[in-house]
Amino acid sequence: MTIDTFDAIVVGAGQAGPAIAARCSKEGLNTAVIERLHFGGTCVNVGCVPTKTLVASARAIRQAQRGAEFGFAVGSLRVDMARVKARKDGIVAHSRDGVEAWMRGLKHTEVITGPAHFIGPATLEVNGRRLTAPRIFLNVGGRAAPPPLPGLADVPTLDNVSIMDLDRVPEHLVIVGGSYIGLEFAQMMRRFGAAVTVVERSPRLLPREDADVADAIREILEAEGVRFDLGAECISLARDGGQVIVGAACGPHRASHRGSHVLLAAGRRPNTDGLGLEAAGVRTDERGFIVVDEQCRTSADGVWAVGDCNGRGGFTHTAWNDHEIVVANLFDHDPRRIADRIPCYALFIDPALGRIGMSEDEARASGRKVLRAKMPMQRVGRAREAGETQGFMKVLVDADTQLLLGAALLGLNGDEVVHALLDVMAAQRPYTVISRAMHIHPTVSELIPTLLQQLKPMA
Ligand SMILES: Cc1cc2nc3c(=O)[nH]c(=O)nc-3n(C[C@H](O)[C@H](O)[C@H](O)COP(=O)(O)OP(=O)(O)OC[C@H]3O[C@@H](n4cnc5c(N)ncnc54)[C@H](O)[C@@H]3O)c2cc1C
Repeated sequence: MTIDTFDAIVVGAGQAGPAIAARCSKEGLNTAVIERLHFGGTCVNVGCVPTKTLVASARAIRQAQRGAEFGFAVGSLRVDMARVKARKDGIVAHSRDGVEAWMRGLKHTEVITGPAHFIGPATLEVNGRRLTAPRIFLNVGGRAAPPPLPGLADVPTLDNVSIMDLDRVPEHLVIVGGSYIGLEFAQMMRRFGAAVTVVERSPRLLPREDADVADAIREILEAEGVRFDLGAECISLARDGGQVIVGAACGPHRASHRGSHVLLAAGRRPNTDGLGLEAAGVRTDERGFIVVDEQCRTSADGVWAVGDCNGRGGFTHTAWNDHEIVVANLFDHDPRRIADRIPCYALFIDPALGRIGMSEDEARASGRKVLRAKMPMQRVGRAREAGETQGFMKVLVDADTQLLLGAALLGLNGDEVVHALLDVMAAQRPYTVISRAMHIHPTVSELIPTLLQQLKPMA
């Protein structure tokens, strides 16, 4: 059988692959882009884009429900989930089509649809066709991995893909998993009108966050009617007629929750099974993530792994940053590294949590002398004016170097405002650069200097 030779092959058109393909094309490389399903991958189709679109609908509904506070009445409010979904589908389709059109419009580039797998070193097969290239970029992403719960096979469950197809509001959604994805769905579905119960094995939400952050998030969601069963051990699933029963049979308390739907939001795995990585000499770790070095190079010469499948990020911005690292090293003689980036992410409940750098627990464990400041959002004039005073802002600084160590901004526009701190961290400048800067009134950001002027040694 003949083997078609390219200069570069990109497997997976998620968040890193398309941009790498575009750069290869710009460099004049004869490139193949292989995508098995939807262009844009998880983020565009069943991740960031649809969830943030749904979060926006949910926020609009919430604002309308609060009309009396702001001086207006909307009469009776009825959520039309089919139209909420249609709006989401339209925005997703626009993004997906944009990625596909971008790829199909690239010079020197062939787009191939179908699942690819290695059949030997540097050699892939897709739709029975064999391809080889001296540069192969794996951007295969990941998928939801249902936890091995007793009863799983007997109960219809939702994940982040199938929940996107709901065009009716669930009567009672039980969510297994109180982490980032689960909590975004919990709040939005509650705002759409569902009863929502979150069942979480850990005694508190978001174990990666400090206790004050996790507790404040729980309070915000509880105030909207989301119910929590924390510390729920021995979780099992059962079916009773048209209903699902999520039980927690051991641990400090025993409970069972009867719902109309159950969403499993506890765990994801990389799409590396079935990719034939052994045939290509590409090593994976015990969880299936492709092992990469600081430049995203795998154990096989001429093969890179970028995005979620390398286990070094788990976000769209880390996938994008992987692409930047790869092209900088390959084409720009710029030795960028994964280690250069500062951890950052957001939890897109409303109000959002913006997180950068270390948590308090991590700063304490680092053995540094740490300064800390915390301010409730009630102190922020702009938040009071908007009627959105939930949450707080917290920042950590190294007492010796005056460099910022981390921040948690839970409150109005926390996901945006946190970038002011992130950029000073990236510039490796002392916190006084921002604490002395004049900021615009009235904004949430104007309180960042005030917050930093209140730093005290961390207890
Ligand atoms: C519900 C949810 C909400 C999220 N929200 C956010 C958010 O707000 N912000 C954020 O930063 N991140 C968010 N994420 C995470 C984000 O979606 C991922 O980190 C991001 O999509 C990773 O991009 P990627 O390019 O690595 O992989 P993916 O986007 O998963 O793309 C991989 C692509 O590879 C293709 N593929 C796989 N195997 C093969 C094969 N063998 N042959 C050909 N093609 C193949 C797939 O079809 C897919 O298109 C969210 C995730 C979920 C599930």
